[in-house]
This record gives sequence, C-alpha cells and structure tokens, in this order.
Amino acid sequence: MITKEIKEQIKKIVGPENVLDSDLDRFGYSYDSSFVPLVPANKPEIVVRPLTAEQVAAVMRIACANRIAVTPRGASSGRTGGSIPLAGGISLSLDRMKTIIELDQENMMITVEAGVLTGDLYNYCAAKGLFYPPDPASYKYSTIGGNVAENAGGMRAVKYGVTNNYVMGLEVVLADGSIINTGGKAIKNVTGYNLTQLFTGSEGTLGIITKVLLRLIPMPKVRNTLQLMFGSLDEACATIHKMLQSGIVPAAAELMDKISLQAVARHRKLEIDPATEACVITEIDADNQQGLAMQAEQIEAIAKNFGALAVRIAQSAQEAEDIWAIRRGLSSAVGAMAPDRLGEDISVPRSAFPEMVRRIRAIGEKYELTIAVYGHAGDGNLHPSILCDLADSEQAERVHKAVHEIFAEALAVGGTLSGEHGIGITKRPYISSALGEAGVTTLKLIKQALDPQGILNPGKIW
Ligand SMILES: Cc1cc2nc3c(=O)[nH]c(=O)nc-3n(C[C@H](O)[C@H](O)[C@H](O)COP(=O)(O)OP(=O)(O)OC[C@H]3O[C@@H](n4cnc5c(N)ncnc54)[C@H](O)[C@@H]3O)c2cc1C
Repeated sequence: MITKEIKEQIKKIVGPENVLDSDLDRFGYSYDSSFVPLVPANKPEIVVRPLTAEQVAAVMRIACANRIAVTPRGASSGRTGGSIPLAGGISLSLDRMKTIIELDQENMMITVEAGVLTGDLYNYCAAKGLFYPPDPASYKYSTIGGNVAENAGGMRAVKYGVTNNYVMGLEVVLADGSIINTGGKAIKNVTGYNLTQLFTGSEGTLGIITKVLLRLIPMPKVRNTLQLMFGSLDEACATIHKMLQSGIVPAAAELMDKISLQAVARHRKLEIDPATEACVITEIDADNQQGLAMQAEQIEAIAKNFGALAVRIAQSAQEAEDIWAIRRGLSSAVGAMAPDRLGEDISVPRSAFPEMVRRIRAIGEKYELTIAVYGHAGDGNLHPSILCDLADSEQAERVHKAVHEIFAEALAVGGTLSGEHGIGITKRPYISSALGEAGVTTLKLIKQALDPQGILNPGKIW
C-alpha cells in the first residue's frame, strides 16, 4: 500500500509532475502489447517517471523499506506481459531517460540511458558510419532498456546476433537501491561472474537497468534484397541451410508459409502463384557491389538447384523496399484475417524448422484452427499466429490447447519456449517443462539473492 506520505516522498525525488495517479494514467500503464487480457487489478497504484539513476535508486530505497512492488517499463511493446504491474505498486517508467551519453568512436562503443529508443540509437550510429545491428520489428518505439531486459532479437540475428551480443556493460539499480556497474570497455573481461549477461534477459526481475554500454561495428557499405518463391517448405529451408553451409551468411532470411502469403496477398492486393508454399526474403550485405553481386548469384543458383519457382533480385532500393514491405506488413495482414490473433514466439534448431512447421499445421488441423507461420528461418525462430475469435469460449479452449501443444512440440524437437519475446506472464505455466524443476529452482535462488523481498516485477517468469 502506497500511503500519502510515501507518495509525497517520491514526489520530492522525481518532481510532482512525474508521479501519476489518476485513474486514466493508471489504466494506461496496466497493459502492454501482449495478448494478456485487460484486468482492473493490474493497474499500478502510481506511475513514477525518474530522470536519473540516482532518482531510480532513491525510489527503490523507499520501495525496499516499504515492500512495494516495482515494475520497470520501457515502451510497453513487450509481447509477454512483462511490464504489466501484476502486484500493483509502482510502474517505474524509464521513458524520460533518453540521453545518448557518449559515442566512443575509437573503441566503437556507445553509452546510452535505458529509455533511448532503439531506432534513435540506430540512426545516431548510422550517421557516423557505425552499425548497431539488433533490429526488433518494434525498433521505432522500443527502448534499449527493454531490449536488454528481454534480450531482444530481430531479423538480422542470423548474421549479427541479438542484443546480448552487443551489451558490454550496464548500470543497474538493485532492489535495495544500490547502484552497480557491470562489464566495461575492455573486450576481454573475466573478472568475476558475468553479471552483464545475467541482467540481459532478466525481464526486470533482478534490477532496473539505467545505463547501457554497447559495442558497434562498421556499417556495411552496400546491401540488397532477394525474394525466393518455393513449391515446398523443405525446398525453402534447404536453400537457407545450403546458403549458410556455403559461407553465404545473409543479414536476414525470413520465411513465410502459404497462409501468411495468402494474408499478405489479400491485404496488399498482390498476385501470387497458387503453387507457392513458401516465400523466403533475404537481405545480403557486403563492402562493395562486386561482393554483393557474387552473393546474389550464388543464392540464385542454390535456390534454383532446390527447385525455386521464382527468384527476384531487387534492381533498385525502391524494389528492395517493396519486397520488405511484404514482410513488414505481414503482422497486420495476418491480424486482419480474424477477430483475434494469438502470436507466439518459439525457437528450434535450424534443421528442425520445416518439421516444426509441419507439426504446427497438424495441430491446426487437429483443433480446426488456422495457424499462419512465419519467422526468422535463418536462426530457427518461428512466430506461429493462431487466427481465432476468443469471444467464442469453445474456440478459446481449442486455442489454449493448441498453444500448449505448440510449446510441447517445440521442446520435443530440441527447441525452446521463446526466441526473443521472453517468458513474462504468458509463458509462465510452461517454464518448468523447458528448464526442469532444478533449473527453475536455480533461477529462483538467483532471484532470492538479488531481490530477497520479491519486489522487482513480481509474478513474472514463474
Ligand atoms: C509489432 C511488434 C513487433 C515486435 N518485434 C520484435 C522482434 O522482432 N524481436 C523482439 O525481440 N521483440 C519484438 N517485439 C517485442 C518487444 O518490442 C521487445 O521485447 C522489446 O525489447 C521491448 O522493449 P520495451 O521498451 O517496449 O519494453 P517493455 O515492453 O516496456 O518491457 C519489457 C520487459 O522489460 C522490462 N524492462 C523494461 N525496461 C527495463 C529497464 N530499464 N530495466 C529493467 N527492466 C526493464 C519490463 O519490466 C518488462 O519485463 C515486438 C513487439 C511488437 C509490438
């Protein structure tokens, strides 16, 4: 319970205008971009918007002394309910901490506050010829703090990896209000446990990330896009595997199944060969045009060898943009096909991608549900989208069972529950089946050590 006195203390720290407690404001901070239903009980008691790490620390000291739940929040674009304040208390929004603190060109590293938007960081670096590769599709509005807390991925993961491959160090405010700094600019660093990686992907349950040190790489000089159409999923996946085995690592290799393609075709009024079962969109990059052309030729040859129905190599930046628009518009195109859409995120070994799609199809048939499947085939990360009407309780029950089976099949083929969206609220029931009881106990011991009162983002992960 946040008393009037506590509220006054917090107002003194961050300024009264940065403590929100109207019904409307509290409602605005009670949901995120997941499919978790709106529940009045999920409203925070107050929303606090600090500007500095010291303010975050002072708020945490008060929360710790009074056992108040604190749920960190970036841009609330999370897909698993992570920023929903399940236990009320404080919704701690990092959105005002937006300073790009230092670009160290010599070491190719950048230090930013947690509330900096991913897209702003990318553009800032790009203007200086530097490249920050992780590109969640939400990059225009997600925050770096949220990306680190979720270890966000994106389309470029196949070549460039995900957020944790770029995090060199963090400033973190712990549950008791102390501030620690992890990692640093030294590239080789084995001094003590790797706390930087521990906090990366911790979903706001171990500490509040206030500052992030990221490594950058030189911006590739040229890039191009190819669209490959196949009469079977296996041919599409075999093409991607062969490309990778031949040393052609595309910056992105996205796959869409037939249902996804039909959705896009309907949405964008496109003509698609009815024999097409799968479409691969791939981005390649290089230091010069010659290198780029060579990769494109090799990919075309591999795709044709596996029986591609059509290969389109973009001839201009506009054509590349048009091809990518198909992939970018996919989520809304699929969403427009039914009253509700339950989008999931699983990750399997790359070789299991076609088998996993087949198993998802079988689940769809068993429960009489339409499931569109697309994803980052280059790294085995799939996003099955169940098209449904959740207002129909009988159908909702079938959807629930189908989701359960999709997770079970992902584990059965050697995969995992989440490739990039985290566990949050929505995947809690399945975490033991992925990690085992001993695995979950180990996570709980770490949580207990860092947050003994359980005030940081309670109710998440397990
Ligand atoms: C259309 C759409 C497309 C998406 N595409 C992708 C994608 O391609 N790849 C991908 O990985 N994700 C994707 N996402 C999911 C989401 O954007 C990412 O998880 C993103 O990293 C969340 O950032 P955020 O700032 O919105 O964090 P929030 O949603 O606000 O928070 C996410 C979690 O991080 C915690 N948190 C936030 N900030 C901090 C902090 N400073 N310190 C500690 N904990 C914190 C929160 O408590 C919560 O648990 C997508 C989402 C949408 C809506």
